[in-house]
Amino acid sequence: MSRTVLVTGGNRGIGLAIAQAFAKQGDRVAITHRGSGAPEGLFGVRCDITDAASVDAAFSAVEAELGPVEVLIANAGITDDTLLLRMSEEQFTRVLDTNLTGAYRCAKRASGKMLRARWGRMIFVSSVVGLSGGAGQVNYAASKAGLVGVARSITRELGTRNITANVVAPGFIETDMTAGLSADRKAEILKSIPAGRMAAPDEVAAVVTWLAGDGAGYVSGAVIPVDGGLGMGH
Ligand code: NDP
Repeated sequence: MSRTVLVTGGNRGIGLAIAQAFAKQGDRVAITHRGSGAPEGLFGVRCDITDAASVDAAFSAVEAELGPVEVLIANAGITDDTLLLRMSEEQFTRVLDTNLTGAYRCAKRASGKMLRARWGRMIFVSSVVGLSGGAGQVNYAASKAGLVGVARSITRELGTRNITANVVAPGFIETDMTAGLSADRKAEILKSIPAGRMAAPDEVAAVVTWLAGDGAGYVSGAVIPVDGGLGMGH
């Protein structure tokens, strides 16, 4: 059955791979972008997830074009790393406002229509760092850990209505976000990954499409690592 899917930050990186995977299986796919436009074959809406009015307008545009959002992928996110001693309150709150509050804004806007349809899937893209922590990432790790509480609370609130909420926790994925790592840092990271390699965005997308499918209807409130074993034990 084909569904209407919205992927925030689906114009590039992991979000784009997710959007393309849904499109490939025949779903109606919309992505948000902040000015880049939409990659071919995807319906693009301009949206800044730090602004509730912008989120509302984006959902309305998707509803008008493709119908109510049945599958929400809260993927858009940023990093702004620095050690705690140097981290300004603005750096902390900006990352939280994007990664955590942004996901809440989208989930809240999606929930009304999902409740009415008595069906929905929400998938939050977190990070291995949300559970393990990361030096220089107090803001980012807090935002990604927060998504677990969001998904689990939604599971408790909406579980009886056929709405699931899950978290995917990627490890190191080859995108713009990790392209800036120094060669030394990359080598160090690779040593700590049991799989011995970084992953392609498609490998995250495969797990996300599975979670959104009928086969995962009884999976909710789960945190699914896609990290080559990096976070084992959490
Ligand atoms: P990229 O940096 O490649 O892309 C980030 C995406 O988020 C872009 O589409 C960007 O839009 C969008 N975005 C950022 N801020 C906003 C905002 N305020 N409103 C709307 N959209 C916004 O990141 P990745 O693809 O690597 O990461 C995607 C998700 O996966 C993120 O949540 C990230 O934290 C998470 N993740 C990534 C890992 C990795 O190794 N790459 C590992 C673990 C988790 P625009 O193009 O307009 O800037």
